[in-house]
Formats: sequence, structure tokens, C-alpha cells
Amino acid sequence: MNKSYIDGAWVEGSSAVADLNPSDTSDCIGDFASSNKAQTNDAINAAQKISGSWRESGIHQRAEMLDRIGSEILSRKEELGTLLSREEGKVLAEGIGEVERAGHIFKFFAGEAVRIAGVSMDSVRPGVDVEVVREPIGVVGIITPWNFPIAIPAWKIAPALAFGNTVVFKPATLVPASAQSLTQIIAESGLPAGVFNLVMGSGQEVGETIVNSPLVNAISFTGSVATGREILVKTAERQARVQLEMGGKNPLIVLDDADLETAVECAINGAFYSTGQRCTASSRLIVGADIHDRFVERLIERMESLIVDHALKPGTQMGPVVDDRQFEEDLNYIEVGCSEGAEMATGGARLERDTDGYYLAPTLFIETNNAMRINQEEMFGPIASVIRAHDYEEALTVANDTDFGLSAGICTTSLKHASHFKRNSSAGMVMVNLPTAGVDYHVPFGGRRNSSFGPREQGQAAEQFYTATKTTYVNP
Ligand code: NAD
Repeated sequence: MNKSYIDGAWVEGSSAVADLNPSDTSDCIGDFASSNKAQTNDAINAAQKISGSWRESGIHQRAEMLDRIGSEILSRKEELGTLLSREEGKVLAEGIGEVERAGHIFKFFAGEAVRIAGVSMDSVRPGVDVEVVREPIGVVGIITPWNFPIAIPAWKIAPALAFGNTVVFKPATLVPASAQSLTQIIAESGLPAGVFNLVMGSGQEVGETIVNSPLVNAISFTGSVATGREILVKTAERQARVQLEMGGKNPLIVLDDADLETAVECAINGAFYSTGQRCTASSRLIVGADIHDRFVERLIERMESLIVDHALKPGTQMGPVVDDRQFEEDLNYIEVGCSEGAEMATGGARLERDTDGYYLAPTLFIETNNAMRINQEEMFGPIASVIRAHDYEEALTVANDTDFGLSAGICTTSLKHASHFKRNSSAGMVMVNLPTAGVDYHVPFGGRRNSSFGPREQGQAAEQFYTATKTTYVNP
């Protein structure tokens, strides 16, 4: 079908984009619709038109629909996970896991739809009653990246609908098939036409139309810092509500007293699973001087044993980089690291496999310092650096010395240091003896500084962004 979904109808694009499998570029998943400005405005108008009646639709109906969507996603997790892995390149277990997560998110927000509460209290003026309620905000524009093609849309779409908003969803151009499959399920759930719209197409055409439309009351965006900032500036004038989730440069501290195997597995998972293409990836490994050599030796051993191959091949542990542009960017950062004087301990080169894909060896730089570009700029690939720290205090200072602040981890057996780190890390999410990546869906997700802007996503915190409070005073 390969079309956008606008006002309850599947619509041809004004042009088409080929969707290639990064594990095998001879495998074209399809030519997907790329919509234009006029079609985007059709979607926005439809969402705006139905907005009033949808907000009156009632929490039970919304909960039932979200629950149905969640069940359908879960019952098709193998099929959808396979499509996701074929399209994005994460290994099959991760693809299926992501789909499963999306199903759980819809079910969680089915519950939240009926749980939403206000408060009723006495006024400070005797005889007057005060009521605080939460109301929908109207039309929400949802703009998402390619690295979690189903989970990120799910954690924005589900709360938007649960709390009575209508949606115009623009997925990343690299993952249209996943977006369309999710949309099919949402479309079949019985939502009235116009409540949910999918508009596929470029950031410049579709994205900017959503961002600039005065009919869009709120924008939830996940992607790069550059795009996020642009959206913030463009929406400031009309005071649209904006939520931005952007990059990371996440530290994982390994103290001398850490359990070596735990620390190495946290680094392997955090830095290289999903090919390092996670905003919560551990890209700076800050390692105590005493454990340094043992940690590096064992980490290299584990990295070199990782099976890098076609994402759908049984046994593969790390799939390809998502596309040629990202692949070139990763190689460029590897050159930057070498030119800055970092020592490449392993990886750094393209890998040849049976199929023509973007395979990059997991890459580790050692003898680096935190001022290097490879330790300050987000690389978004299977590349990590080791920074030596002489004690906990130095490790903490280095961990916090970044423009980002999404996730931060520590591996230690010291309760004292773990507790201190929890309190003094400047990241929005802190992990103790766990990888920096890997979060739950029922608690807030988000970071600080360049990583995030606006209210937190996920869990009960999501209602802050997707609803507006109203305070009513009654003199009965
Ligand atoms: P991107 O910023 O290039 O694109 C994100 C989305 O914005 C895409 O749908 C794109 O088409 C759209 N877009 C591009 N230009 C636009 C414009 N001018 N106006 C409106 N929309 C526009 O990011 P990407 O390359 O798709 O994703 C990778 C980035 O996402 C990384 O920086 C990563 O850290 C970040 N990310 C962050 C989180 C998080 O929660 N913090 C999660 C995943 C990914």
C-alpha cells in the first residue's frame, strides 16, 4: 500500500522514496509515499476538525481502543519485529523486543486514560470551591527519528490519544514501513477519521509544515539537537507547547572495586547493542586506573567476539549501521579520534559480509581525554572511548563535563560511591551496575541540558505534556 494515512484514508504521496535494508542494500522493502505540504495541511486540518468531538469521546472508549492497539501489536510482534529489523538493522531479538515494548506502552496508556484525575479542594475564600482538572491540548504534531521506529512513536502517540488529543505523526524517512504498519493497526482500532494521521515525507516539507502550522498546538520531537533547536526557535513565537528529546554523550564509570564481568557486559550492551545507535548509548567509558588494563583487555576480547552480520541472520549480535550517510559519519569520527591522538584499540574498519550492508567493526579508542571531540560530540555509532580516571571524584567530574545529560552509569560495589553518584550525576537518568541504555515504560524518560527540553516523556509524567490544567472557582 505504501501510502500516508490522512483523515481516515490511505493517500498516495506526491513522490516516493525507496526503503532499503541496511543489512542488504539489494533488498528494497518498497517505495514509500513522500507527502507534500498540501497533504500535510490536509492532515492537520482533519486533526483540528475532529479535535472537539474526540475530546468528548470519553475515557472508556479511548482506553478500549488503546488496549486493542496494544493487543494487536503484541499478537504480531514477530512479524512487525522482523520488518523493523529488516528496515532499521537492529538484530531480530531487539526488533521483536522493541515491538513488544510498543504493545506494552499502548496498554499502559489504556490504563492511564481512565486513571486521569483532577483535584477538588476548599478555596482560601470560605464557601468557594476550587477544582483543578486536566484537559486535552488539541492537535499534537509528533516527529520521530529512525533508531526506534516503533517504540518512540508509541510512547508519544499512546499518551496523546489517551488524554484526548488528535495526532499528526511524521516518522523519519528511513523507516516508513514500520510507521505504516503501526498506523494500519491504529487505523483498524476504530478511531474516528482524522483523530490519527500519518504523513510520511521529508523534514523540510512535512516536518516544517507541522512545526509552522498555527493549528498544531503542541509538538513532541525526538531527534538531533540541531533539528530540535530549530523547532524550538520556530515555535517560540506562536508559543506552541514543545517537548524535545535529543542526543546524549553518556558516561559509564567503572570504579576499581567494580565486578569486572558486570562492568564489561554493561559496556558491551550500552555501547554496541543496537549498533550503538541509541541516544542512551555509553560512549564514554571512564575507568579507574587500577582496573583499567584488565577492563580494556576483557572488553576488547568481548568486542572482537561479537558477531556482526545481517540483522535477521540467527546468531547475529550486532547489525549494520542504518545507512550510507551515518556510515560515512561514523568513519569520519574514527578519523577524528585518530587525528586527535586517541589510540584505536580495536575495530575502526568496514566489515565484508555475504550481503552488501553497512557493517562496521565495533570500535574502541583508549588513552583518550574528555576534551577530545570524540568525547564531546554525539557519534551515534558502534564507537566508544576509554578515559582513565585516578579516583571516584575525578571520574564524577569527567562524567558531568558534557553539554549533554541524558543517561549516566556507574559500576561499583561501593554503596557510598553509588549513592553519591545517584545524587551528584548531572544526567536525567542514572544507572547503577546496569547499562546506560535500557529503560522502563512506566517511569519518566528524559535528560538535561542539550539532551532534553520540556516535560518528561513516558509513565505518568506524560500527562504533563499532553494535557493542560484548568482551575475552576465556584461560589455555589
Ligand atoms: P533528525 O533530527 O535528523 O530527524 C528527526 C526527525 O525530524 C525526522 O523525522 C526528520 O525527518 C525530522 N526533521 C528533520 N528536519 C526537520 C525540520 N527542519 N523540521 C521538522 N522536522 C524535521 O534525527 P535522526 O537522525 O532521525 O535521529 C538521530 C538523533 O536522534 C540522534 O541525535 C539521537 O541522539 C536522537 N535520539 C534521541 C532520543 C532521545 O530520546 N533523547 C532517542 C532516539 C534518538
